Amino acid sequence: MTKFSAALIVAAILAATACVRNPYAATNKVYRQQAKALARQIQVQPAQPTDSLPAVPYWVGTVNFNLRKPNYVIIHHTAQSSTAQTLKTFTLVKPQVSAHYVIGRDGQTYHMLSDYLRAWHGGVARWGGITDINSVSIGIELDNNGTEPFQEAQVVSLLKVLAALKRTYNIPATNFIGHGDIAPTRKSDPSALFPWQKLAQRGFGLWYDTTVLTDTTAAPFATDSLGQFLPGLTPREALRIIGYDTQDLPAATKAFKRHFVPTDPSPLLTETDRRILYNIYRKYL
Ligand SMILES: [Zn+2]
Repeated sequence: MTKFSAALIVAAILAATACVRNPYAATNKVYRQQAKALARQIQVQPAQPTDSLPAVPYWVGTVNFNLRKPNYVIIHHTAQSSTAQTLKTFTLVKPQVSAHYVIGRDGQTYHMLSDYLRAWHGGVARWGGITDINSVSIGIELDNNGTEPFQEAQVVSLLKVLAALKRTYNIPATNFIGHGDIAPTRKSDPSALFPWQKLAQRGFGLWYDTTVLTDTTAAPFATDSLGQFLPGLTPREALRIIGYDTQDLPAATKAFKRHFVPTDPSPLLTETDRRILYNIYRKYL
């Protein structure tokens, strides 16, 4: 073997080693340890619910069960400047945040947590009667600083992930929503630049019938956008039935408009907005 070919082999070995070296090896080890601890936790035989109940003579376990499945998908933008920054954030303990998937501007997708485990992405949030969103949802973070358009390659990857999730867990179209929808007073992601209409066309989330833009028949609401109580359906009630937390009505209205009327950031409902709201509300009945 010549010195040159020996050098080539050494270079090839070094290159191969560099390819497989994972800078997250240490935190991946923590992941495996935590997953093991959870596996041990669910292997434990259930105890008597409480001592104040009459004792039973023996424990009986059922033979029919499997893991709980996610039923919602919550879409976020990271508000950070790169995927690398988000991967770093989600592998540090201090921020106490995570997501199941992180999708880069280039479409590269990191699946950071098993879909069966609970990521910490929703925070204090509410959708309909659900107050523990993290327990029932998959969190997807899109690398985006919050003011830029979402990249084509990123949306392509997102659609692939959504299709797999919808198929695997049988998630209904209504249950693909944004962080801003479930936390209207705290969050505004994904931004108004997010292509919700495109997603809805593929069966992820809902969109209104565009006939409401030209058919100017007034929506049959009982009151104006102030949401004061009157007999009949109010815009507040329609928002609440869709799922929005309407305790802060301007915030809920703004969240609805960010999603369905992204060209107008105002918290007020125009005549067209009211027709859009009524049309969406009807789809939730
Ligand atoms: Zn978010």
